[in-house]
Amino acid sequence: MEATQLDGMHDFLSSPKKIIITTHQKPDGDALGSSLGLYHYLLKKSHTVSVITPTDYPKFLWWLPGNKKVINFEHQELKAKKLLDEADLLFCVDFNRLTRGGKFSEYASTLSLPKALIDHHLEPETDFRFIHWRVSASSTAELVYEFIEKMHDESIVDRDISTCLYTGIMTDTDNFRLPNTSANVHRIASVLIDTGVRPDYVFERVNETFTVDRLRFFGFCMNEKMEVFPEKKTALLAIEGEELKKYKIGTGDTEGLVNMPMKIDGIRLVAMIVQRPGIVKVSFRSKGDVDVNQLAKEYFKGGGHKNAAGGQSDVSVLETRKKFLELLKDFKIN
Ligand code: 5GP
Ligand code: MN
Repeated sequence: MEATQLDGMHDFLSSPKKIIITTHQKPDGDALGSSLGLYHYLLKKSHTVSVITPTDYPKFLWWLPGNKKVINFEHQELKAKKLLDEADLLFCVDFNRLTRGGKFSEYASTLSLPKALIDHHLEPETDFRFIHWRVSASSTAELVYEFIEKMHDESIVDRDISTCLYTGIMTDTDNFRLPNTSANVHRIASVLIDTGVRPDYVFERVNETFTVDRLRFFGFCMNEKMEVFPEKKTALLAIEGEELKKYKIGTGDTEGLVNMPMKIDGIRLVAMIVQRPGIVKVSFRSKGDVDVNQLAKEYFKGGGHKNAAGGQSDVSVLETRKKFLELLKDFKIN
């Protein structure tokens, strides 16, 4: 469940290169924090660097240093492709199948350009020239920091780098709370704090910038949408498009919602089904041995981690809810 292949990377980075960094669709805090942390590091090493995201991402990440330089492939397709055509290396961070990067990384997969992987998701594709991959890592940001260490560059980590990487670690450990919060996580967080990141500032920018509508929407979901199946230790949220519209819910505004029913004593599995433009998105969270990666992979064309995974459904929210409840009948939860 881990692989590191960085032979030649140090030499490669020893002269100025054109480097692209990309990540998965609808980037989250770890995807963007890792991308921008790596971006600031490579800039400092005198490379020409661009971060290209396949889609937009939540407003609560727009404050990150370097955000304004990020190229959204949906809006700047030609520019993104040109940069890719001229690049020496493509870093894929926080995802490991080029199909998860949408049209952008699918285009990249047609080029002979060498690719590097920094990631913690299960079952990576094998076509990477350089790899730093470990499933047990809390976050890709943890692995980006290790990558910098492997390049013997800890001493150049500054506040921009540390702020981005801390954000990735904080969001993927759900504020240093999940079982992936290892001693290594705290070791790295400690170094990042020493190099300038302000944990209270990052926490506030990420977690305490709700609009009134968004918080009322969370209340509405808990009050009127949540279904609880105590005998199955499961809670379910199935949310329709009109409900999102009523509360002006956009990209990223449902982030964190799936974790809320986990606060109920005894709940081990939470499923959230949400209508998104053109697709029905499914998110799972679980505790302990309840493997939602398998569930997402087998039935919802997705994947992720054992305790946090997602996918999509071809049928309506209501039908997806029915399908999930059918699956739940045979799903073992201990
Ligand atoms: P979320 O529920 O927050 O959208 O995603 C939780 C985890 O599942 C993340 O690690 C994410 O990478 C993964 N994930 C979410 N949606 C998909 C998907 O459609 N396909 C795959 N392969 N993984 C997903
Ligand atoms: Mn991640």
